Parts: sequence; structure tokens; C-alpha cells
Amino acid sequence: WQQKWVVGNWKMNGRTESNRALLGDIAALPAAERVCIGIAPPLPYLAQARAATAQAGNRIHLAAQEVSRFADNGAYTGEVSAHMLADAGADLVLVGHSERSLYFAETHAERRQKLENVLAAGLQPLLCVGETLAQREAGQEQNTVAAQLDVLANLNSRHIAVAYEPVWAIGTGKVATTAQIAQMHEFIYRHILSLCGSDVNIRILYGGSVNEQNAADIFSVAHVDGALVGGASLKGGSFAAIIRAA
Ligand code: 13P
Repeated sequence: WQQKWVVGNWKMNGRTESNRALLGDIAALPAAERVCIGIAPPLPYLAQARAATAQAGNRIHLAAQEVSRFADNGAYTGEVSAHMLADAGADLVLVGHSERSLYFAETHAERRQKLENVLAAGLQPLLCVGETLAQREAGQEQNTVAAQLDVLANLNSRHIAVAYEPVWAIGTGKVATTAQIAQMHEFIYRHILSLCGSDVNIRILYGGSVNEQNAADIFSVAHVDGALVGGASLKGGSFAAIIRAA
């Protein structure tokens, strides 16, 4: 839990053939003791990712990008439960990514249910939070993030992992400044303490246009415990460079 986490969110990208090279690069990464590496491929490729990284000297954690809000099994066509993700070898699950609210109108109540399902399956949730540009320009970034964090209240877990991803920095090349990151990570840290009590372990990743050029600066900011990387995680060399910077 003390290590930095670098998690690659592939989003809806990949094919068996192109994954092979990327996964080969990731499996060949030199052991990085200070870093816990995770990858979140699309679900059809979870087994491929698992097989390709199983022998890696670094333990590569598998993450899922999404989980059903419905329980273990049932007549929910198209859904994948947390228990199935555990069965398939995932140990980390993203919950609440901004693209889920943007395109799928995910609600706070649904996020809460997903967090509980992930924990019930013995997996670690990674809750994503972040404000839009309009919310930041209106001075509402902290209120927005606080409301998103409120789904963590009274959660039955002592390990709270959050990714701060300002929506305006995702896929735009516009990375938040280190001052903006420092301010928000400090705020998130304190807000989680107030919600969950002082005996929780807190991990806060930054996400949004992280790349090999800006990673070292971002990792040097207080309360930045890792990165959630989108675009740059699709290039083995860039992902490796970000891991080296952690
Ligand atoms: P980019 O790194 O492509 O900006 O994506 C960030 C992200 O949304 C990771 O979940």
C-alpha cells in the first residue's frame, strides 16, 4: 500500500494482435519495487492480459474499467458482476469514471452500489472523481469533488483509493498544474478523512493527460500516490517511462 500505483486505462482500445506487443512490453518491464503496476484492458482481453503478464517479474495487477451495479448473477443481459471480474483475475476495479457519467448517465447511487459489489467480491475499487471545466471556472471544483466523494461514507473498507481526474484534462493534452493538483489532492485527502475516519489508508492517483514528459513533476506533488493513465498507457515505451518516473 506504500508504493505508488501506475494504472493504465486502455478504455475502448485494443485488438488481440496489437495487444500482444503492448503486453509484451509491459511484461518485460524491469522490476520496480516502488511501483505497483496495473492495466485495465477491455473485458474481452482480460484473459489475454492475464496470460501475457503472468510470468512477469513485476506482479502486474489487472483492473476492470467497469462493473455491474447488480449482484453476483442474474437476468441482466450484457452485465458483468464483480465476482466474475474476480474470477477472471482482476483485483482492481474503476468506479465512476467521468466517461461513465458522460455517456451512460451513471448516478451517485449506482456508484455506491458498484463500490459495495466490488468490495463484496474481495476486490479493490478505484473511485474516479473530477470536475468539468465549467465547474472549475465557476469556482465549484471542490464542492463537485466533495459531492462525488460522499459515496465513500460508511463504506466497509479501510483502504480507500481515489483517482482525481479533472474532466478538462482527460484526453485533451491539458494537464492540471502542479499547484492545482496539490490543492485538490490535499482537499481530497482531508475530505476522505472526515468521511471515513482517521484510521483509513488513503491513496490518491492523478489522471488526465499524464505522459512521460510531465509524470515526474506530477509524482513529486504531495498526496499524489500514483497515476491513472489513458492515452499514454497504449504505448509501451511511454507507459514504461511513466513507471520509471514514479
Ligand atoms: P488520458 O491520459 O488519455 O488523458 O486519460 C485519462 C483517463 O481518463 C484515465 O482514466
